[in-house]
Amino acid sequence: MKNFSPKHNLSRSHTRITVLEWCERKYYLNYYDFDLKKRDPELWRQNSVLKRLKSVEMWIGEKSHFLLSDYLHLFQNFYKERDANPALRDEQVQKIKDKIKTEMEKEFETSKNMDFSDYDKFFEKKIGLSEHFYGEDIDDKLPEAIAKVQENLDRFMQSTRNTKIHGYFEDGYQVYIESPREPFRSMNVDVSLIPGLEDVSVLAVPDFWVIFSDQNFLILDWKSGKEDILQDQISTQLKVYALKKLLKMKKTTLDNVTIEAYEIYLNSMNAYGGKIQQEDIDFIISKIKSDIETQKSFLQEGDAEKNIPLDPDFFHDALSEKKCETCTFREVCKKFFK
Ligand code: SF4
Repeated sequence: MKNFSPKHNLSRSHTRITVLEWCERKYYLNYYDFDLKKRDPELWRQNSVLKRLKSVEMWIGEKSHFLLSDYLHLFQNFYKERDANPALRDEQVQKIKDKIKTEMEKEFETSKNMDFSDYDKFFEKKIGLSEHFYGEDIDDKLPEAIAKVQENLDRFMQSTRNTKIHGYFEDGYQVYIESPREPFRSMNVDVSLIPGLEDVSVLAVPDFWVIFSDQNFLILDWKSGKEDILQDQISTQLKVYALKKLLKMKKTTLDNVTIEAYEIYLNSMNAYGGKIQQEDIDFIISKIKSDIETQKSFLQEGDAEKNIPLDPDFFHDALSEKKCETCTFREVCKKFFK
């Protein structure tokens, strides 16, 4: 089998394109900081710290994903081992909930006491909340954050979605559970058979999928953020996952393949999505192509192989003070961009 290795140094992922749509300067500071390093090494060091910080909101999302993945792996193993002792299961669930609480308390303490100007020390731990970097007192947010993460799991456990997933384990279907504690695992989407995308690197992986048969799949993706109440379509992210599934079968047409895909909001357990149609696949292929072209427009000579950014002046600000108020990069941004 051909080993897929894209020539481009430019990649397309949901996060990357979302950052670009949010703010071009943030995109530069996130993905082209090697250019900043050449221009201002000291600012680059501070930017390298900011790149690794999370807001409390992002941290809650990350930990909710960790806890849910731990829970699902736990039950996948229970069903594999045919362990039917319910008392033991309850005990194990309590253990993973306690573990996430301890993990969050330790990280919060580390972040609170971090001297963010001591770069070497920061990079030993690589842990920090942006609110602490900007000197905010957020002690009262820790118990709230832990409660939100644990409640997300409780809500999931009480849902019909959970019952269905236990059924997949019990019936022996092939179930894939993402391990968010090990990011970048199996993220590559091999788009090499799509004309025009032969050399492109696309990154995407759903949180959960089930193979019911070689023609029938279910994809689920957990969302911890605010629910978009206007959302009545299948998201572009879900369409990329569906395309990834098809490409694994070396095709871009659904024919007799059935793929259902849903985003599940953990704060309500509402699901958004549906059955993927051929028009969804065609749409996402052209969207990936246009996203790549947009990304290339920020490169010298549009050359994705070299992947050298245009002068920083070409990267515009967010056009919204509201976005800047909470942006992790605001410290470096105001010093670097005039
Ligand atoms: S501070 Fe504002 S302009 Fe600067 S990177 Fe953040 S969002 Fe963009």
